[in-house]
Amino acid sequence: MKSIDLTDQKVLAVRDVQSARNEGATELLVAGGCVITPSARDFLHQCTITLRTVGDQNNSSPSAKTSNAAQPVDGHRRDRAEAGLFYSAEAQAVKKEICAVGRKLWARMYVDGNGGNISYRIGPNQVICTPTLVSKADLTPDDLCMVDLEGNQIAGTRPRTSEILLHLEIYKAVPEAKAAVHCHPPHATAYAITGHVPPSRLIPEYEVFVGKVAVSPYETPGTAAFAQTVLPFVKQHNTVLLANHGIVCWADTVTHAEWYAEVLDTYCWTLMLASQIGVPFSYISPEKASDLLSLKKRLGLPDVRFEAGHLKECQLSDMPDNPGSISVPANGCVLAQRAPIQGDVDALVKSVTDAVMAVLKEE
Ligand SMILES: [Zn+2]
Repeated sequence: MKSIDLTDQKVLAVRDVQSARNEGATELLVAGGCVITPSARDFLHQCTITLRTVGDQNNSSPSAKTSNAAQPVDGHRRDRAEAGLFYSAEAQAVKKEICAVGRKLWARMYVDGNGGNISYRIGPNQVICTPTLVSKADLTPDDLCMVDLEGNQIAGTRPRTSEILLHLEIYKAVPEAKAAVHCHPPHATAYAITGHVPPSRLIPEYEVFVGKVAVSPYETPGTAAFAQTVLPFVKQHNTVLLANHGIVCWADTVTHAEWYAEVLDTYCWTLMLASQIGVPFSYISPEKASDLLSLKKRLGLPDVRFEAGHLKECQLSDMPDNPGSISVPANGCVLAQRAPIQGDVDALVKSVTDAVMAVLKEE
């Protein structure tokens, strides 16, 4: 063992660890209160160099006692175990899959700027996730982070996404959820900004893998309140529209969660195109739709319609007079959207005509 004494330093940065490693160090001694930068901590894990705190602990500043401070021996063991998990073969495979999914999301224009985030629950209290401020097109495995279920970063050099809290609420509420993808696909998000969900019983693939979706109420992104908006829905829906924001999907793998985003966005897009044809949709019959639900149940996928009495309770109708959307009242039940009443249309036409006439008169 070779120890290097760095007790005169107030901050331990990654370059200090690099030079210690170059000198063959296996242990670094730091003073109590020395601040360890996140990248230095991560590099220590990679090099399997032990960090030992010596000296007067009472001189530690309050801020140095937070997660950046040198940890006691038990903390070291835990940190090293977590570093082992973060650099395990399984984690490396997950990181590659997350990067591949990131590129798919970007190529499909589901993530704009640095938007969107991806995660995978690799341990009971460990989640690998994407960092903040990186385009999903540019992700590399080294960019990824690991957090615990409370959102504390436990590995990775880049800061984790602020929207990880949304993923963590899903993991805590749904034991089957192993992966989550949040993104802003334009057609599904178009529904999300209207507060309406697309009707069901139109395309089998949507019925089986996603439908029906719910829409959760708007909250400021990145906050705990935002993360909790999905809680009433995530046990019975693997995909939720986030009002005025985007969507979130959970699945057994990251790849499958991304598939659900594709299925939903393509479905919303198709409905928008079909709405422009100007004739009512042709729905799959209830009998045939129940075949699809049986298949879905066999696949182990969630659906709110499996709940006994749901249809009756919510007066569900998936065949609105005005095709393309279904309104969602605050209680989360889905009701057929009211078709425009002729009187409303007449009043609108009259007000537009009056406005045009007023402009013409001025000229
Ligand atoms: Zn977002």
